[in-house]
This record gives sequence, structure tokens and C-alpha cells, in this order.
Amino acid sequence: MPSTRDLIAHDEAALARAVARYERLCDAMPLAIAVFDERLQLVRANAGFRQLVGAERGTATGAASADPGCLIYDAFPNALADLGDEIDTALRLGTPRAARVTFHHRGTARVVDATLVPLGEEGPRAIAFVASDVTEREALRDDLERSATQLATIFDVMPDSVRVFDAGGRIVRSNAQAQRAHRPAPTTLGELWQQDRPRAASGVGLFLHEHPSARALRGEQVRGETLAVRRGVAESRLVTEVNATPLIGVAGDILGAVMVERDVTERSRLAEELEEQVKLGNVLLERVSTEADRLEQTVRERSDELVRLEEARAREERLAAVGSLAAGVMHDVNNALNPIMAAAHLLVMHADEPDAVRDYAARIAKAAEAGAATAARVGRFIRQEPIPGGGETLANLASIAREVVALTEPLWSERTGGASVALDLRFDESGIVAGIEGELRCAMINLVHNALDAMAGGGTLAIATRSHGSEVTLEVRDNGRGMPAEVARRAFEPFFTTKGRRGTGLGLSEVYGIMKRHRGRVELESTPGHGTSIRLVFPAAGRTPDAGAHCAGPVAFTTTEVER
Ligand code: ADP
Ligand code: MG
Repeated sequence: MPSTRDLIAHDEAALARAVARYERLCDAMPLAIAVFDERLQLVRANAGFRQLVGAERGTATGAASADPGCLIYDAFPNALADLGDEIDTALRLGTPRAARVTFHHRGTARVVDATLVPLGEEGPRAIAFVASDVTEREALRDDLERSATQLATIFDVMPDSVRVFDAGGRIVRSNAQAQRAHRPAPTTLGELWQQDRPRAASGVGLFLHEHPSARALRGEQVRGETLAVRRGVAESRLVTEVNATPLIGVAGDILGAVMVERDVTERSRLAEELEEQVKLGNVLLERVSTEADRLEQTVRERSDELVRLEEARAREERLAAVGSLAAGVMHDVNNALNPIMAAAHLLVMHADEPDAVRDYAARIAKAAEAGAATAARVGRFIRQEPIPGGGETLANLASIAREVVALTEPLWSERTGGASVALDLRFDESGIVAGIEGELRCAMINLVHNALDAMAGGGTLAIATRSHGSEVTLEVRDNGRGMPAEVARRAFEPFFTTKGRRGTGLGLSEVYGIMKRHRGRVELESTPGHGTSIRLVFPAAGRTPDAGAHCAGPVAFTTTEVER
């Protein structure tokens, strides 16, 4: 039978084992556990507590704060006041008490949630401290709270209405804009639909199941759908653009939907206005183009009228020219016939006087010759068809010009009224043309005579020939009185003269006819008070004439009139 001492020893050993087991269990727990006596001196502490206060076994720093006998305040520096109050209350009331302890550990702030448990049966003799470190959890919670606040702010400042529905169609969240837009605030999609009475862009009312949010709750993505919705007391409608998206859970199930609604009333009004303006613009454009057509038509009519008037004027001028030609011919024929008739009459009266008969016969012959000369000159104007082959020879313009100068020179001072005339000759000897020499000479004499007539006070007579490409030119230039436009325009008309009885008006018309016959053209350039240049342009011999020379129409010359 074991002795009492053995029994006690046995019990003590069992107790020590139990305590060791209990301490191992405490060390394995993820909590900081410590027991302080009534003087608040540490009695026992587990591994969690030592780690919390930075008194790991074997570490040098703060080893004292977890040693038996050290004060609770040393374990939690900077947490003194709060902790003291909590311990006092717990001991006084004798019930466990929760406390949040903030303290500094190795330079960083830490937060623990502790429970202070009074120990002892007859009145509290000691206190157990059971705590967990919630520093990280609290930091995460702060972060989360900040993010949530930021999101809530963003959510509320959005100009669009945002609503979140749960799977059953209840509105679980709505931002400030959504709350402003609807009063009273709808709590379900059904109520929202009831208030809005939405219509599609086509004007057709939507059933509840056709609402974008209802479709999103069935899993559909609704993008940019335009609705007309009823808002406020009045029957006025807003135009909104709606996007709705289902909220899908991790398992693929539909948790709810988000609907974002934007007021586009103003935008669609502007678009309508713009469309209206465009329509108006088109109408205006059409009107303007009709007006332009009308104007064009008027312009066409006016120009047709002008052309008609111009044609009438040209016809009038042609008739006038023919009239003056007829008058001129009649005048010259009369001039020739009058002396013939007078002589014939006298001839009859003095038929038996041989001398008188001879004299009258001579007068008749002279008058008839003058008439024949005029007829020949008019004939040279009238016969403008090119000379049929055979009648023409090769002629050197420079040689003919020299002959003309020699032939006329003795009579120059007579034509200029005694004033002296300087001569300027510049000949290009290669100027050979095919033609009738007599006619070419006649044309040149006419030009020289006109130049002399224009230089009553004297001046310079310049004659030049020039070969250039397929053409040969003879130019007669004077620095005499020149021609006004009206004279230059009519200068080539037969019988047109500004010289009164001294002139015949046949010189330039003869030149014109001769040039036509030689397949050439005449160019006239004159400046009143400065002089005149007349150029006879021939096709060079052996060359086919320029198309222009032949097709120049009734007026085969150009006139440049420079008014002073
Ligand atoms: P006429 O010499 O007999 O008057 P023309 O047919 O030779 O007839 O000339 C017609 C008109 O042209 C002249 O009356 C004159 O007014 C004008 N004219 C011709 N050549 C010249 C010239 N070189 N300078 C100024 N006027 C001229
Ligand atoms: Mg003349």
C-alpha cells in the first residue's frame, strides 16, 4: 500500500504533467495569453504573448517585459491609461471585459483586441489577458473603407443615373442622380417601370419584360438603347440612353443587374434641330439653284439677243457698204459719161469740121479711158478668188518695192505739199512670192500714196520686207496723222475716203482684193497722231498657205487701234 508521501508525490507529478500539457496547448494557440496577479505583475505568459510584446525567448530586446514579475504596463508601453482603466473596471465588476489596446512595438504602431478576465473565486485575485493582434486586419479594413468611400463619391457625382438590381428585380443601390430623378424613389424594377412608362424610340410603349434592366436580369447586355420616359408631374417626356449589364457570379449565375441611364433630351433636341436646319438648307439650296438656272436662262436669252443684234448690225453695215459701192460706181460712171455725152452732142453739131471732130473724138476716148480705169480698179476689188494657176510668176517683193519707190519719188513733194520725206528701206531679199507683179506693184503704190497723204507736214516713210517661216511680209509705215477707230474700221470699203474730191476711196479696197487673190491677208495698225503701219502678209512661194490666211472670212485683216 503506497504511503501518504508517495501518494502526494504521485499527485504532484500528475499535476506537473497536466500543467506542462496545458502550457504546450496555450503556446500552440494563435492568441496572446498572460496571467497577472492582483498587483498586476506577470505570473505566466504563452508564446503568443511573448511574441506580441517582443519578448521572444532568446531575443535580447525587451526580455524583461515578459518575465514573471514584470508589470503589465511595461508589456504595453504607451497604452497605459486605457488599459489601467479597463483592468480596474474588470476587477471591480468581476466580469470579463473587452478592450482595444494600441501600443508601439519595435517602432510600429500595433492594435490588439484583448479580453480581460478576472480570476479567483472569492473576489478577483488575478487577471487573465487574452488578446489577438488585429493590426493588419484593421489596416485592411481602413483601406477597404477608404476605397468604398471613394467609390461611393464617384458613384454619386456621376451625371448618369445608376441603379443596381438584385436577381429578384429589387433596387439595392442607386446613386444621387438616380435618387434626384425619381420621387418617390422606386424600390423595384416594377415600380420604376410604373413611374417611367418607357417608350421605345419608335414611340411604342415597352412591356415590363422588355425593359433593358429586365433583359439584363435575363443575361442580356443592352447597349445604348434610346427610351422616352415620363418624369415629374407633367406628361413631359425625357429622352434617355440606357445601358444595362447583368452581374454574373463566379458560378455563372445571374446575381442582379446594373442599369446606367443618361439624359440625352438636349442632345436629341439639338440633333432634331440640326436635321431641321439641314432640311431648310437643302430647300434654300434648291431655291438658289433654281434661281441660278433662271439667271443662266436669262443670260442665254440676252446673249442670243445680242448675237442677233450684232448680226443685224453687220447686215446693215454690209448693205451700207454695198450702197456706197453702188453710189460710187454710179458717180464715177456719170463722171465718165457726162463729158462723153457733151462731146457726142458737140460732135453732131460740128460734124463737118474735121478738126473739131478729131478734138471731140479725143475727149470721148479720154473720158472712156478714165471710166475703164475706174471699172478696172473696182474689178480688182470684186475679183477676190485666188488667181487660177498659170497667171502668176515668182516675184521678189524687195525688187518690186524698189521699183515703186523709183516710180513714185518724183511726185512725193507734190503729195506732201512740199514737205520733205525721209526714206527708210529694210529689205530681206529672200522674200519671194508667187503672184502677178503688176497687181503687187499697184498695191504697193496705193500704200505709198496713202502714207504720203498722211504726212502733209513731212515725216519718214519706212518700207520693209521680211521672211518668217511660211510667210513673207511687206510693211509700209508712216509717222503721219494715223486713223481714228471709225476710219480704220471702214478704210477697206470701196469708195470710202476722208480726202473729199482728192480721194477715190478705191486704194485700200483694191489692196484688199489683190491680197485675197494672192491668198494673203492685210494687217492694219494705226494710232491717231502717231502713224500707221500696213502689212501685206503672203504665203511664201512654194508653200501651202496658212489655213488662217484663207479662212479669214470677209475681213482678211486685223486692226489694232491704240487711242491716245
Ligand atoms: P483714198 O486714199 O482715195 O481716200 P483709200 O482707200 O486709199 O482711199 O483710203 C481710204 C481712207 O483710209 C483714206 O481716205 C484715209 O482716211 C485712210 N487712210 C488710208 N491710209 C492711211 C494712212 N497711211 N494714214 C492715215 N489714213 C489713211
Ligand atoms: Mg488711197
